Amino acid sequence: MVKKTIYAGTFLCLLGIALGGCSQQKEISQTPKPKAEFSPICEALIANADKEALRAAYTPLLAKQELLALVDEKYSLPQDYIPQDLVGQGKIRLRAETYQWMKTMQEAAKKDGINLFPISAYRSYAYQQGLKERTKNPAYVASPGHSQHQLGTAIDFNTVNTKDENIPALQWLKKHAGKYGFSLSFPKGKEAETGYPYEAWHYRYISKEGVALQDGFFGGNQHKMLLFLNSCLWTPEKTLGRIEPEDATTHIQDKK
Ligand SMILES: [Zn+2]
Repeated sequence: MVKKTIYAGTFLCLLGIALGGCSQQKEISQTPKPKAEFSPICEALIANADKEALRAAYTPLLAKQELLALVDEKYSLPQDYIPQDLVGQGKIRLRAETYQWMKTMQEAAKKDGINLFPISAYRSYAYQQGLKERTKNPAYVASPGHSQHQLGTAIDFNTVNTKDENIPALQWLKKHAGKYGFSLSFPKGKEAETGYPYEAWHYRYISKEGVALQDGFFGGNQHKMLLFLNSCLWTPEKTLGRIEPEDATTHIQDKK
């Protein structure tokens, strides 16, 4: 399986190594294809959707290409990708918006008597590499470049022990995380699709609008929604590792 690199133009802009096509790139990436132009593969992803309602749901997300990049065992981030707005201290660093919503969510949980705390957040490529080398549970640890943690928007809450998957904090998250823009990345029953075993503690911030799109049109399936956004709406320069609709087919078939 050939590894691909997704690499939105906005990433380049933020990294300050833009090659002059920055604003143009952004414009391209934020312009949705008219629905008539969706490939059969993309149409299959949104088969029974009311297309006008779908468009209304994804329009607020068009400018959030970096936030909603597809990162999985097939699609990777560049080795030098570092989010530019990381905040927080010590081991727990997150992109600013994610950090704020985590705080808001923690306060809400506290009112319900739940102590919600992050045990892992942003991880650099190099850190992930070390983790992969040291781990005794390789199925649970992504290869470097393939971890959502490198995005600075993924958080492991309270535990990473499968024996703890029903602890009150994780039960609370299951019920409430969506209200704060967080989504369970590796749900039970979707292992073949996401490439990972069920992880009751791993949440990715996708914004409230992202959760609305995910829940309204993709059955709560974060991976499927990200695949749609990244392979059907956004068209980064081919040289940056564009995901072709054909890739989406392979991807879906691979996972069956
Ligand atoms: Zn995690």
